[in-house]
Amino acid sequence: MELKPIPVEVLLSLIYQDSLRSCSGKLIRWSDLKPKINTYIHSVWQKHWDAEGANKLHEVLHNLGEDLHRRGEGAGRKLETAMRRLRVGHTWRTQSYLLKNEQQPFCSACDSLYTVRHILIECPDFQDTRRKNFSVTDLYRLFREVNPSRIVGYLKDLGVYGNI
Ligand SMILES: [Zn+2]
Repeated sequence: MELKPIPVEVLLSLIYQDSLRSCSGKLIRWSDLKPKINTYIHSVWQKHWDAEGANKLHEVLHNLGEDLHRRGEGAGRKLETAMRRLRVGHTWRTQSYLLKNEQQPFCSACDSLYTVRHILIECPDFQDTRRKNFSVTDLYRLFREVNPSRIVGYLKDLGVYGNI
């Protein structure tokens, strides 16, 4: 994703015009302008994010303002770290092949590419263990509806939590 720089004059003009519409006849204070700048910048980022449909993180995060990292907070550093790694799809178990300059691993149970998505949602061999811990079928719902301790419990049941 490449963002083209926006000339400051254009940005200020857009914000100023918007401010005039909503604050006609009043003086514009910085405290009124700052949220409008933040909203405008967020909308630009969201547009770029929406255009990145093929990005694997779209399944986890639709709206850029949403803070998923707060889920699992206070449950311990190891769990928080594991959840962050799972959300971005980068764990030692699934990505270490890049550092070792090896081929991407395949699931020994079903011979599919071994990814976080595969472990958490797809692998038919893990289905019984998965059902024991949660019943969602996509990553979006998994990271919102399932308690992080259930996800970790699932990974422990599989014996892969130590390598997350
Ligand atoms: Zn599999």
